[in-house]
Amino acid sequence: MSDSFDVIVIGSGPGGYVCAIRAAQLGLKTACVEKRATLGGTCLNIGCIPSKALLQSSEAFDKASHALKDHGVLVEGVKLDLARMQARKQEVVTANTRGVEFLFRKNKITWLKGTGRIAAPGKVDVDGQIHETKAIVIATGSDSVPLPGVTVDERQIVTSTGALELDKVPGHLVVIGAGVIGLELGSVWRRLGAEVTVVEFLDRIVPGMDTEVATAFQRILAKQGIKFRLGTKVTSAAAGADGVVLTMEPVTGGNAETLKADIVLVAIGRRPYTDGLGLAEAGVALDERKRVIVDQHYATNVPGIYAIGDVIAGPMLAHKAEDEGVAVAEILAGQAGHVNYDAIPGVVYTWPEVATVGKTEDELKLGGPAYTVGKFPFTANGRARAMGDTDGFVKVLAEKGTDRLLGAHIVGPDAGALIAEVVTAIEFGASAEDVARVCHAHPTLSEAVKEAALAADGRAIHI
Ligand code: FAD
Ligand code: NAD
Repeated sequence: MSDSFDVIVIGSGPGGYVCAIRAAQLGLKTACVEKRATLGGTCLNIGCIPSKALLQSSEAFDKASHALKDHGVLVEGVKLDLARMQARKQEVVTANTRGVEFLFRKNKITWLKGTGRIAAPGKVDVDGQIHETKAIVIATGSDSVPLPGVTVDERQIVTSTGALELDKVPGHLVVIGAGVIGLELGSVWRRLGAEVTVVEFLDRIVPGMDTEVATAFQRILAKQGIKFRLGTKVTSAAAGADGVVLTMEPVTGGNAETLKADIVLVAIGRRPYTDGLGLAEAGVALDERKRVIVDQHYATNVPGIYAIGDVIAGPMLAHKAEDEGVAVAEILAGQAGHVNYDAIPGVVYTWPEVATVGKTEDELKLGGPAYTVGKFPFTANGRARAMGDTDGFVKVLAEKGTDRLLGAHIVGPDAGALIAEVVTAIEFGASAEDVARVCHAHPTLSEAVKEAALAADGRAIHI
């Protein structure tokens, strides 16, 4: 028998490490189990952070290669140093993972290195050593969903993890799945010179996102040279010395055809990761998608065992996991933590970005309430024109009658930063008029948000 803790968190992703820090801040004796060699989970090691580093670098390469001449800046002989770009990405990852290690030391959190298994409520086995604890928080995250007939080798047929590590720009990258991972990583390699084809099962990209925004987004990506094969399913993949041959067919029936690729990225979603955790033995209930079932206090059906992040229901997003980490730590310390699931933003970090919060127009059409729409295009925003980034628009949805903000969807430059204003407004129960009456600096992209809020009442100034 080893140490005894108030809380042991299993997994050090954004859910787990933030939970551990908040628990320690609140005076709980806290440990976090992590089997990876570095802290930070999927997000810091193989997810959000490395993908954003490559998106940033590839965007700089693309701008230097194509966009700067419009500004009268002539850069001759732009060349790609992919090894340096990858090394920089790793430096960014290391700075972030070391940062979490520093925060653990600062907050006196014990990192239990190894694989955690719930031996019983109140007991966590880490590589054979039992640690006692009053509460266990499962934060073991998620893993990519495999596609039958397409065997991942992380060399020619890769998940996002392999797609972040390529040491050569593929001639032809085929992405299976037009979701967030496929479009972000497809954009990286497209900008660096690959031909990119995205094969998607459904007849649209980014399912779940407001259809009008998704349609505009697809048009913009197509302009950047990304090819789409919608309504198509991949049935098999054969990898050989000459690349990969994919067999695919229309979802609605019809002839099968083949497509050759140098690299295939399988990005058809992620699923909760609970391998080897001992959940069945401990009696922890899972839902039909193998997610850990929790109540509104993040408690599972077994007293003393809680769960947060990608391993439970809800959007698989780092900030959602973080907020749940804070909430469960506060609940364990006797406070009243909670997360407002109506105000969780989602951002796709392509260029332009796509950002969304709250209800989509599709959802409102189906389930109400009655709503008004305010839209404003970036072509009419002075700053966007000055930047030379006029693709896209802001769309605001408000409840008819009360004018309460229900959602906002932005495709355009810096959409991820712009959405924060609407998230705050929704959190505070604001109306579209509230946003419209706030003074927005000129000339900024944020004026497009104000104008869309004005447009919800038919009184935008600049269109
Ligand atoms: P994770 O981050 O998955 O962490 C779980 C940790 O638990 C892992 O380190 C794992 O090693 C550890 N673990 C599992 N089982 C055990 C065990 N038994 N014992 C010990 N340790 C264990 N989200 C965003 O919000 N923004 C983005 O830009 C974004 N980009 C992404 C890009 C990519 C390529 C990917 C794959 C994901 C991205 N995500 C993004 C999603 C985001 O990474 C996840 O939502 C987030 O990491 C979930 O956090 P988590 O704490 O639940 O789990
Ligand atoms: P996703 O759910 O976003 O998209 C998967 C896509 O694959 C969907 O369009 C789906 O219709 C399609 N698909 C499913 N089965 C298919 C098949 N057999 N053939 C062709 N297409 C198929 O999943 P993802 O892109 O893998 O991302 C996983 C998770 O990671 C997401 O939940 C996302 O929230 C998170 N993530 C977030 C960010 C971000 O916030 N910027 C970035 C990357 C990943």
